Amino acid sequence: MMLIPLAIACPQCGSYDVVYSCKPDCCFNHVCGKCYTTFEPFTTKAGELTGEIGPLPPDPDPTDPTAACARCGETRLFAIRDSVGPAPWLVCVSCKTLLTLELSEVSPG
Ligand SMILES: [Zn+2]
Ligand SMILES: [Zn+2]
Repeated sequence: MMLIPLAIACPQCGSYDVVYSCKPDCCFNHVCGKCYTTFEPFTTKAGELTGEIGPLPPDPDPTDPTAACARCGETRLFAIRDSVGPAPWLVCVSCKTLLTLELSEVSPG
């Protein structure tokens, strides 16, 4: 399994030029750098990871897109490379939960 940093596409224009503008202890407000749409990603538990987690990518920047694990609340989430698309699968490396990512509070800029 190959893990890659989280990339979240803007729900309005599809750009990956998305910046996380807040802190996990406040909220998960993200801003699109192209059209200034704001949204908050959240995760839903989709299963349990069995087997080994492969080598981890370096920890992302604080402004890189992120979300909280639906199970343990940690933000150490990575995407599974082969699942990238409109509904990427994520793994929480803290509790080994498989997650799906959805967006809420979408507010076009
Ligand atoms: Zn956008
Ligand atoms: Zn977790």
